[in-house]
Amino acid sequence: MSVHYQPVKCKSFLHHFDKKFLPFSWGANPYRGCEHSCPYCFARYTHEYLGYDSGTEFDNNILVKVNAAEVLEKELSRPRMKHEAVNLGSVCDPYQPAEHKFEITREVLKVFAKHKNPLFIGTKSNLILRDLNLLSEMAKSTALLVNVTRTTLDENIRRKIEPRAATTEERLEAVKQLSDAGITVGILFVPIFPYLTDDSESINGVIKAVSDAGAKNIVPGVLDLRASCRNRVLSFIEGIFPELLPKYIALYKTAYAPNEYTSKIYRAVETAQRQCGFKTFETPVHREEQQHLTCG
Ligand code: SF4
Repeated sequence: MSVHYQPVKCKSFLHHFDKKFLPFSWGANPYRGCEHSCPYCFARYTHEYLGYDSGTEFDNNILVKVNAAEVLEKELSRPRMKHEAVNLGSVCDPYQPAEHKFEITREVLKVFAKHKNPLFIGTKSNLILRDLNLLSEMAKSTALLVNVTRTTLDENIRRKIEPRAATTEERLEAVKQLSDAGITVGILFVPIFPYLTDDSESINGVIKAVSDAGAKNIVPGVLDLRASCRNRVLSFIEGIFPELLPKYIALYKTAYAPNEYTSKIYRAVETAQRQCGFKTFETPVHREEQQHLTCG
């Protein structure tokens, strides 16, 4: 199915988060909808707010915020912003394939760099390497954390759960090049799929690989089946791994896997992190510190 790009003009680019547990106060998305097409994507419902469906239209009908950089410049120039941290890609991947063509993310990065604004970036794409020089410069003058999602080292599984995202090798190489360029890289080890990517060999393998590549932090998360994710993921499991469907239905009596299961997984992640020498990680920007961050 071909992808349709729809240019739109946004009135605001930053949206505020009022969740004290988050290390950033603002989110930003150059694109809405995401060509990476992960069946487990919890952001799909947001496309319904825009008048589209959360299935194929989320994957193939991409809204492109063509004036994002211009709007961001005005927003960051407001005195009340005070260099509060922004999460770029809070809903949809800022380095999805559309970025090859439109370069909206690159343009907004230049604005963040000009204002030396603390920034978090999350992606599953190695296209971020195109902006390596810019990011490397930003890392010298402001708090910057790039989070790369790694779910598995098994390329066969990756193709199924993240069909249009970068390969396992491409993402590892991205972690390595970003780290080598002096940029702090974290790993979103999310979602861990029960019975598919949750065995100790898989967990240890991912953590060892990203550690070797230079990642400084790992945030794990077991798959959850909130709202419309439930039907979508269970249909996906039924179609691709039908033998696992009864186990999924038994495990997910609610939207979340039981504590007993998740605790076991998180303990395994912690053990693997210890074995690989991960140290306690200080998030670059904490909310209470934001007011003290100033230009230069
Ligand atoms: S890359 Fe992220 S936003 Fe895009 S489809 Fe996958 S989970 Fe959703």
